[in-house]
Amino acid sequence: MPIEVKNFINGEWRDSASGESFMSANPADQSEVVGSVSRAGTEDVDLAVGAARAAQKKWRLTPAPKRGEILFRAAETLLRRKDELAELMTREMGKILPEAGGDVQEAIDMAYYMAGEGRRLSGETIPSELTDKDCKSVRVPIGVCAVITPWNFPLAIPAWKIMPALVSGNTVVFKPSSYTPVCASRLVGILHEAGVPAGVVNFVNGSGEETGEYLASHPGIDGLSFTGSTVVGQRLAGICAAMGKKVSCEMGGKNAIIVMDDADLRLALEGALWGGFGTTGQRCTAASRLVVHSSVYNEFLGMFIEAASKMRIGNGLMQKTDVGPLINESQMKKVLDYIEIGKKEGAKLMTGGRRRTEGEHAKGYYIEPTIFSEVEPGMRIAREEIFGPVVSVMKARDLEDAIAIVNGTEYGLVASIYTQDVNNSAIAERELETGIVYVNAPTIGAEIQLPFGGTKRSGFGHEEAGGRGGALDMFTKWKVIYRDFSGSLQKAQIDR
Ligand code: NAP
Repeated sequence: MPIEVKNFINGEWRDSASGESFMSANPADQSEVVGSVSRAGTEDVDLAVGAARAAQKKWRLTPAPKRGEILFRAAETLLRRKDELAELMTREMGKILPEAGGDVQEAIDMAYYMAGEGRRLSGETIPSELTDKDCKSVRVPIGVCAVITPWNFPLAIPAWKIMPALVSGNTVVFKPSSYTPVCASRLVGILHEAGVPAGVVNFVNGSGEETGEYLASHPGIDGLSFTGSTVVGQRLAGICAAMGKKVSCEMGGKNAIIVMDDADLRLALEGALWGGFGTTGQRCTAASRLVVHSSVYNEFLGMFIEAASKMRIGNGLMQKTDVGPLINESQMKKVLDYIEIGKKEGAKLMTGGRRRTEGEHAKGYYIEPTIFSEVEPGMRIAREEIFGPVVSVMKARDLEDAIAIVNGTEYGLVASIYTQDVNNSAIAERELETGIVYVNAPTIGAEIQLPFGGTKRSGFGHEEAGGRGGALDMFTKWKVIYRDFSGSLQKAQIDR
């Protein structure tokens, strides 16, 4: 039986006003309907925003340590239910179980971390120029925040946004991806059970174009935190800017791994495999480009092809599976189209490139791990985000050439370098135009106590995950207070 998912408005699970619903299906087996979901229309969004506005003042005045305690209880529940949530995620989104466990773990980590921030939500006291006057800056919430999230991290990304929004004193209207509403509803239920008051977190489901855009452009929304594709993010950023709303967008990527001639190729191979094909290449941080020093190019390419062709493709619930299905048919078609584009552009298909439809793969969206060699930086497969298990391998003359290739796209999320030379590492750290740089590690594995985000068309905001300059900066604004306790006329001093 599908799990029934309703909207959550003002502390109650409610059917949508229209009574319409849609389904979320298992990408490993399309015949399994995972969720039956109430589709929110404009009337439901209005109610959700209204509830969030009504609850805002009381929540803002709830002491931050108390808000943090509620998040702590949510963290405890997430931890207790980790296995069950991971299994549900694999069924609804397709990623293999260990990766789903990692996704839940990031939500747990963020909940604990932000629980602690409730006791640290500090500003600054700064000396005044004048006698008997004090000055301070305090963090205040931005008000009612819309949170719009993608399907590829169904719990981690919503938690990265909702936990800091709540501890900062904001109320929230959350619209998850239409492909992972069941996972999202679990997070909302856990927050409710942990003691988040009615109206503080509201939850609406529906298509991005209708429900999502209506929510983002709603006059009752003060700020938007969005993660998803660049095209949608840029559109929403424009809408928010025109309406004077605070906005943060984490968007697409075309990430790369550099393998230098002095690299430990064993480590680099592991990085290329999991960076490229982990989560079936459906990570914003997926390493879809491999830039290899010419003197180890042939050797490394051979190792990479051999290992990739042995990866086991299948249902993510099976322990033996390395690579699960793609999320849906349109994503699968997009990836297959890019494989054709790569061939037409003259890149050499070295392994993969096919949809699997036989036996256990018949009911899902499976594509083999695919490697193109002899890719030129100007080709579309080297510049555009494919978001699937396709890696383009390019040759570089030296470090300078490699960095120029990596920087040569309009994206700037993540890059990695494998090298044993500390000077190479230092130059790469300085020159790579990405928000995150890894050294001797794959382009995956963000830790929530640091800011996460990209440059160029990968995003602006660095709002996700922790770091005092990350999430809290997105979800608070500064209020500056000057207090004069001299009781005397100080105009003469001010006019000096
Ligand atoms: P998407 O199509 O942009 O959708 C993201 C979210 O926005 C979904 O909830 C979607 O709803 C909604 N949406 C779509 N159109 C909208 C509109 N016009 N107005 C308001 N909301 C709208 O992206 P996706 O396919 O879910 O996710 C994949 C993309 O996310 C990739 O580009 C990936 O790189 C990026 N991503 C980035 C990061 C990062 O941190 N930089 C992390 C993860 C993923 P529906 O589901 O109903 O369409």
